[in-house]
Formats: sequence, structure tokens, C-alpha cells
Amino acid sequence: MAQSVSAMLNRQSLVDRLAATESWDLVIIGGGATGLGAAVDAAARGHSTLLLEQSDFAKATSSRSTKLIHGGVRYLKQGNVSLVLESLKERGLLYRNAPHLVHNLAFIIPVYTWWEGPFYGIGMKVYDRLASKFGFSESRVLSREETIARIPTVETAGLLRGVCYQDGQFDDSRLAVNLAQTVEELGGSPINYMKVIRLLKSEGIVAGVIARDEESGREFEIRARAVINATGVFTDHVRRLDDPACAPLVVASQGAHMVLPKSFLPGDSAILVPRTEDGRVLFAVPWHDHVVVGTTDTPVPDAELEPRPLDEEVEFLLTHAARYLSKDPRPEDVLSVFAGLRPLVAVGEAKETSALSRDHAIFVSNSGLITITGGKWTTYRKMAQDVIDQAELVAGLDGRPCTTEGLRIHGWAEQGPSEGRLGLYGSDAEALQQLSASEPQLASTLTPEVEVTGAQVVWAARAEMARTVEDVLSRRTRALLLGARASIDAAPAAARLMARELGRDEAWEARMVRDYRELALRYVLTA
Ligand SMILES: Cc1cc2nc3c(=O)[nH]c(=O)nc-3n(C[C@H](O)[C@H](O)[C@H](O)COP(=O)(O)OP(=O)(O)OC[C@H]3O[C@@H](n4cnc5c(N)ncnc54)[C@H](O)[C@@H]3O)c2cc1C
Repeated sequence: MAQSVSAMLNRQSLVDRLAATESWDLVIIGGGATGLGAAVDAAARGHSTLLLEQSDFAKATSSRSTKLIHGGVRYLKQGNVSLVLESLKERGLLYRNAPHLVHNLAFIIPVYTWWEGPFYGIGMKVYDRLASKFGFSESRVLSREETIARIPTVETAGLLRGVCYQDGQFDDSRLAVNLAQTVEELGGSPINYMKVIRLLKSEGIVAGVIARDEESGREFEIRARAVINATGVFTDHVRRLDDPACAPLVVASQGAHMVLPKSFLPGDSAILVPRTEDGRVLFAVPWHDHVVVGTTDTPVPDAELEPRPLDEEVEFLLTHAARYLSKDPRPEDVLSVFAGLRPLVAVGEAKETSALSRDHAIFVSNSGLITITGGKWTTYRKMAQDVIDQAELVAGLDGRPCTTEGLRIHGWAEQGPSEGRLGLYGSDAEALQQLSASEPQLASTLTPEVEVTGAQVVWAARAEMARTVEDVLSRRTRALLLGARASIDAAPAAARLMARELGRDEAWEARMVRDYRELALRYVLTA
């Protein structure tokens, strides 16, 4: 199924539509992978759909992943074959429906002890068998020489061989923005900076929400036939609006990453360490000409929008990266550190968060609030299908078939993300080129170090609903993650262009630069 490619996300017109609409079929709370996926599915089925995000799309966990669309080799270890199969199927669908954002990546497991080779080799054969159904190339064992040729900076002391397999990689927050655009193209209304502060009830049944526009302060009373809570680690906050005494459903587990210059991992292959000496999984992944190293699994007591990597997490990443790379990264090499919180469904007696299920779960409260949580980016489409099937029943809507398996996501284009900076924009790349051609000063980068052009900033504000400098530098482009300190110097130019585009004054510009600096310093490791 093809869609229009020209949609511009315009917040004001969506807010006007909200004010003029008496009632919606479905209101979805949360603009991360889960909520956006649900909104795409609902709108594609023809239900009138409103999505409300308290901050920016993908502000929370959905912009802080390891950037993998993966079958999840490690879930085999948990014996969760059905999750692996589901993930592999979804990986294939994403390659097809968002080829501008998702691409194949070779992962190499370096083998240092004699027993690891057969152990991982056999594990990978099981994975191959599951993956073969979806047409992916098989894993293979690499000699020591081949391993070094593929990863020139791998630690060679004691290296015996490697095991190589294929998985997927993507840009998480760009996919989120493209999903929001897809919702709008399908007739739905995705609105950022709109926080749900209360639930409306009629005769004890959830009948809508009260939401506050975080830009204007205006409150909206919004009626809906069903309300879906897709708020990730904030799930229980919203469930408590329904039932203040409800038992918690979600446990938050923090995962930290660090970003290094490409010289630490030249070439096109990623490293996977399936089991560090303390039992964790470690990835070093080439991404946007840099290297992302992660992650950790640390239980945290509460959810927050800006989690900060703990000292011990950074220490873990530095020491373990040094074990597998010939050049040891030092704190001053780290271009940024970032953390995300996994929403894990708290079932059973598992004591370690790494042992909790990565599956998703749907709950319907006595008053009809539908909650979906858990899962991962890779399976967002299937999660959406399941929750909209459920919501049709709860809302008493006509049951309509899900159509997203073959639905192209906004930006769909033949070319892959490898084709230059604009490749990630897919079918929108041409519009960005035209912007630069019409105003040549927009073709230059914000600073020599930050490779974001003026055209990208203007486009983000004009067509992708970016409202702040942080939205542009952190999620419409990835300047914050690719170099937190350098991105601070790009903030004034970005603020100026945004002010012009959005009709803001100098005081707004100054506030944007100040706020961005404060935020970006949280991603800088060394003073
Ligand atoms: C460290 C780490 C690495 C990961 N790596 C991968 C990976 O490589 N591949 C993969 O497939 N998955 C990965 N995941 C999992 C994946 O990122 C998450 O499963 C997914 O992003 C969760 O999306 P979500 O929409 O449920 O939650 P979120 O992205 O957190 O979205 C919830 C949204 O709800 C909003 N919200 C909360 N309260 C309100 C309210 N009252 N009103 C309005 N909005 C509200 C929040 O602002 C937030 O934006 C990783 C997760 C972590 C933590």
C-alpha cells in the first residue's frame, strides 16, 4: 500500500482539529514506539485516532535504544523461541516497509576460548534455522585472520576465531517521527507536548481524558470510546489516574550507552559479546559513522524522562570495551553517554531485570483503560496489531482487519540509509535538496563539526513537528548523541533558524540555547 509523501506535520492545525472534534474512536497516550505504532494501526483501519505525547515523540525510551532491529539471539538463551520468531518476522517486514531507515548489519562474536566457538556456533545454527524462513543469510565461522580483517581493531591477544551473523540496524527516533507522519497521512492526529493529566469517566467507565497543552497551558476535555495507555515506564503513573490503589505492573531497567569515534571500530561490522564475565550482553555497533557501545541492565526505582548513566555503568562500558578492542577507550574519547529505561512487565519472581520477559502484555482495567507495555522497538507493529484488536472489542468498534504488514512507512524509498546524510529522509530527501537550492545558505552545516544543515533544521520545524532546539539536535537529527559537547555550539544557529520558521522572538531563542546547553551537558562525560 502506498501513501502520499508530501504530508507536513503541523502542530497548530492538529490542535485546532482537536478543539473542533467532539469525540474520537481511540485516544492513545504516549508517543513512543508503542503508542505511535498503535496510532498507525488504528488510523489505517479507519478509526478516528488521537495520539497525545507529553513531551516530544520518542523523547523517552524510544530514542535511547541500541538501534537494532533484531531477532534477539539472546532470547534463545531464555528459551523464548516464539519471541525470536516474532522478532525475525517483524525485522523482515521493517526492511520492506521502511527501507530508508533499516539496513542489514554483520555482527561478529569474537571467540577467545576453545569452548565458545562450538557453543556460539551451535546457538547460531538454531537462530539460522529460525531465520531461514524469512530469507536471511546464514551465520558462519570466521578464521582468526578473517575476524581481524573484518574488525581491524578487535583485541587480538588470545583471539581464536569469530562467529558472524546478520541482523538489522535502524535510527530509532527518525522511525518514530516517520510513524507520526504516517498517522497524519492516514487521517489520525498525533500531537506532541500535550500531557494527559486526568481520565474522564462516565458511570465508572473510562470515557476520555483531560490533556494539557504544554505550550499554551490550555486544557482540553477529550471524549473517546476507548483510551489506550502506551506510556512505557510511565505506565503505572497513568494506571494510577484510573485506580490510585492499583498494583505496579512495570519495572524499569536502565541501559546505558557510550558513543565513540569511528576509529575505535572501523569497517562495517559490529561486535557482539553474548556474555561478559558478569553475564551481560555487550554490543559495539557502527552507527552514523560513529560507534555505539552498550548496554547495561540496572534496576531503577522510578521512571524519569532524562535518566542519567550511573558512574558504575560508564565504568563497565569503558572496561569491557577495552577488553574487546585493541585501543582502550579513555573517558576523554567518549563523545556522549546516554541512558534509556526498559519497561519490563513485572511477572513472577525474577530477581534480575535481565531475566524478565521482553515480551509485551496487554491489560484491561475494570473501568476499561487498556494498557500495553513491555516489548521492544523491533516488535512495535505486532504490539500495535494486538492492542488495536483488543481496543476494538473494548470500544465496541467494528472489528476491521489489521493492514500494517504491507503498509509503507512515511519516507519509504528504494534507496537505503547508506546513501549519504539525506538517505535517512527517504522520499523526503528531494524536498530537503530543494530547500537548500532555494536558499543556498541553508546548505551549509550549523558548525564545521556538527554535520547538520540549515535545511534539516528548517525541515524539522516545518514538516516534522520539531518544537525546540532539543527536538532538532537530539531526535530529528542525532547531533546530541554523536557529539554532545560539539552540539552545544550548534544550538544558537539552530535556534535562529527555528525562530524564523516558527515565528518566535529573541527571548525564545535565548531560552532555547540555554535549555539545550543544560541538557547536553548531561550527555558529556568529562568536564
Ligand atoms: C537501553 C535500551 C536499549 C534498547 N535497545 C533496543 C534495540 O536495540 N532494539 C529494540 O528493538 N528494542 C530496544 N529497546 C527496547 C525499546 O527501546 C523499547 O521497548 C521501546 O522504545 C518502548 O517504547 P514505548 O513507546 O513503550 O515507551 P517510550 O518510548 O518510553 O514512550 C512512552 C511515552 O509516553 C509518554 N507519556 C508518559 N506519560 C504521559 C502522559 N501522561 N501524557 C502523554 N504522554 C505521556 C512519554 O513521554 C513517552 O514518550 C531498548 C531499550 C533500552 C532501554
